[in-house]
Amino acid sequence: MLHVGINGFGTIGKRVADAVRVQPDMTVAGVAKRSPNFEATIADDRGYDLYAADGREPFDEAELATAGTVHDLIETSDVVVDTTPGGVGEANAPLYAEHDTPAIFQGGEDADLADVSFNARANYEKAVGADTARVVSCNTTGLSRLLAPLKESYGVEKSRVTLVRRGADPGQTGRGPINDTLPDPVEIPSHHGPDVQTIFPDLDIDTMGMKVPTTQMHTHSVNVTLESEPTTEEVTSLLADESRLFLIPETLGIDGAGKLKEYTRDAGRPRGDVWENCIWAESITVEGRDLYLFQAIHQEADVVPENIDAVRALSGRTASAEKSIRRTDEALGVGR
Ligand code: NAD
Repeated sequence: MLHVGINGFGTIGKRVADAVRVQPDMTVAGVAKRSPNFEATIADDRGYDLYAADGREPFDEAELATAGTVHDLIETSDVVVDTTPGGVGEANAPLYAEHDTPAIFQGGEDADLADVSFNARANYEKAVGADTARVVSCNTTGLSRLLAPLKESYGVEKSRVTLVRRGADPGQTGRGPINDTLPDPVEIPSHHGPDVQTIFPDLDIDTMGMKVPTTQMHTHSVNVTLESEPTTEEVTSLLADESRLFLIPETLGIDGAGKLKEYTRDAGRPRGDVWENCIWAESITVEGRDLYLFQAIHQEADVVPENIDAVRALSGRTASAEKSIRRTDEALGVGR
């Protein structure tokens, strides 16, 4: 059993903890939090040991028992998943090194913080036995999952992606826009293209970003110039075979992220999470060597299975990407 500590129990951390909990080969060593807020009470309800990231007193005052400090959690964990806000992971890195505990960082950190920028489908093997990995951002994860099979099967000459991004997560009451459509970032290419190149260093990719008033999901408008000329049917069949790509059939009548989230909530998914890239099947179009499609990415969820695979890779106990991905997907219910 791998003992996995989670440092930072917010949007991503609580989902990673719940995903660890259902894996047959992992257990939650505990979660570190700064404050005894509602998420701390949820951790307590789930039976996760709470560790204090910034001193135990606030938890004592709230009558929430703590098992120790974040140092104790790191010491007791085989692998730590750092899910603190962007930049805090960098400050925490020396703690993991000090305890000689392998650590996984998130997409809000700079790529050079970790030995490997990680996407299970694209480069799992690079992280096997590494000390640190960075699970790339939700958008980069979504693009890597799509580009990996395209590169392998057809070769990619050039990718152009416009990312229409959600303004905030549902709990981020201070963010926006609430009534506007922003080029964001206004510089071209946006930072997303270079981030995808941390996974595929030789990939030619241009990205443009926008922000819109929704909390549901990101939507990508994708154009990939391939090196060969497959048919639309061949590309559709290639993508349909990928376990973390869901091709939305026209018959479901899903016209946007709202209905997608409704679908996963109706299906009984935890928090209505959508772990897969959701590609509108009718949008997949090949004209000559140019492929076009739309995909939706649930920012709070798609990196969760990737974190589980990163734990297995860093632990060195599972050398095969395929085996880890299958195990993660079966335990979580990805693709069902
Ligand atoms: P969040 O703010 O929802 O959660 C972070 C948690 O860490 C909060 O509970 C916060 O109180 C806690 N925290 C802050 N400082 C801490 C410290 N020193 N020690 C322990 N805990 C601390 O953030 P999030 O959205 O879960 O993002 C976490 C990371 O995941 C970031 O790098 C982010 O870029 C990345 N990420 C976020 C999303 C997303 O859409 N939310 C998607 C993919 C990747």
